[in-house]
Amino acid sequence: MRSCCSRRCNDYDRPPHADKLNSFARAKAHIMTLRVYNTLTKKKELFEPVKPGKVGIYLCGMTVYKSPHIGHMVGPVIFDAIKRYLTYKGYEVTWVVNITDVDDKLIEASKKVGQPMQEIAEKYTRDYLQTLRLLGIDTIDKMPKATDHIAEIIEMCEALIGKGHAYAAEGNVYFDVTKDPDYGKLSHRKVEEQETTGRVDAAGKRYPADFALWKASKADEPYWDSPWGRGRPGWHIECSAMSMKYLGQTFDMHGGGMDLMFPHHENELAQSESATGKEFVKYWMHNGLTRVRTKARGGEWQVEDMHASSGNMVPVRELIERHGADLMRYFLISTHYRRPIEFTDEVIAAAKKGLSVFARLFDRVQRLTGAPLTDDVQDMDRTAAGLLEGDNGEFARSVLNLKMKFLEMMDDDFNTAGAIAVMHELAGEVNAFIERHNIEHNKQPELITAAAAAAQSLRKLGLVLGLFRPGFAKAEPKDSDFVDQLMKLLIEIRANARKDKNFALADTVRKGLEQINVTLEDRADGTIWRRG
Ligand SMILES: [Zn+2]
Repeated sequence: MRSCCSRRCNDYDRPPHADKLNSFARAKAHIMTLRVYNTLTKKKELFEPVKPGKVGIYLCGMTVYKSPHIGHMVGPVIFDAIKRYLTYKGYEVTWVVNITDVDDKLIEASKKVGQPMQEIAEKYTRDYLQTLRLLGIDTIDKMPKATDHIAEIIEMCEALIGKGHAYAAEGNVYFDVTKDPDYGKLSHRKVEEQETTGRVDAAGKRYPADFALWKASKADEPYWDSPWGRGRPGWHIECSAMSMKYLGQTFDMHGGGMDLMFPHHENELAQSESATGKEFVKYWMHNGLTRVRTKARGGEWQVEDMHASSGNMVPVRELIERHGADLMRYFLISTHYRRPIEFTDEVIAAAKKGLSVFARLFDRVQRLTGAPLTDDVQDMDRTAAGLLEGDNGEFARSVLNLKMKFLEMMDDDFNTAGAIAVMHELAGEVNAFIERHNIEHNKQPELITAAAAAAQSLRKLGLVLGLFRPGFAKAEPKDSDFVDQLMKLLIEIRANARKDKNFALADTVRKGLEQINVTLEDRADGTIWRRG
């Protein structure tokens, strides 16, 4: 494990000050205490990587036969935040997300529209990658495609047959679950319970719970030549072959939605450990499913899981266009990853309100300093040395404590919801500090520096979660100058009306704006406006 003196971990290379030893010790303790809930053991476990200082993560990606909906983005957004956090802690992280470009669903879609499977896969791969880009998910290291790994898949099938864990029958290859005493250990089910879930009608299958590693292709289906004739890979084996190729036979974290735990991940685990004789994954992490509010037959509202069959999926690109990428990310990580995410208008509205707290604070600080809050502004870690001894020591300490609280939340099984709550606490502290000292009126330079440093600490915490990308605060990028000018004019009319004691006119302006969801806020340095 890399020392937490690493620049990525924290700024502990700064000049010594009173708090240095203390926070160093806390940070060191902190890097040791990351706990991750493991589906396999049903417990939160101390995180210990396979290779010191390094973390390998595999997340099951999309089957590219349609446009991604919001549910497809939950895993990528969560693991993007997880990778950023682990990197911040000093780990070297490799994150792999696969693309399933051969599958029953793709073959079905191809037959339905009369287009080759490959063309459909390419079209929706582009769509998937573009959506990830739009959401600002740029931390994935590798996105391998199943069809580029047929040789590895065939090799793994052969190894499993060689070891007696699999058998070929009528052009298919099946995994023999009866030879694996561990089968069911991830989903905590017994093999006998699964008999009804397996398809018995598959050609040559010996036992209902056995699953296909390789499938014989029908005449009109895409195929690859194999020792068992023309066929194509099963879904589960592609993830084993690709994850082990890029991350090694034993790697740290494997993620996916709760719905993938069985049979997909159970089968991945069984075939991988049977092939290598080694532990496949140390920490299995499953995220909650997305739930939407729909109208039931009787007309009453109900909240249900989002799935294709009920047609209640929300296309994610439309949402990004409507709400912006930052809000979507904020919304998705505002719930702990293991809990279901309820996707309703009310929740989106609440997220909008929550995110605007930070935007307003950063604007406020920008008005004080006269410059935007960019990387150049020093954060509280850097300015605390001077502040701790002065009158504002208490404020500096409370900002640093809240930062530690944020890290503790993230160390508790990546509790992003708790971390965001701490960020709100911190924003409240900074606003209270500005008001307590009437900084907007008095404009004392050292207090402005303290407020800016605290806001910068907050901004940096947001960046750790992948929030606050450049431009996030701009709610209305188009026509914004024109709207600004109009609003300036309205604010001036209202101010003049109040000066002339024409309160009726001043009220008309304020109420009229409120009706179109524009709020005016009178501050020491003038009136500002905002939407929502
Ligand atoms: Zn997978």
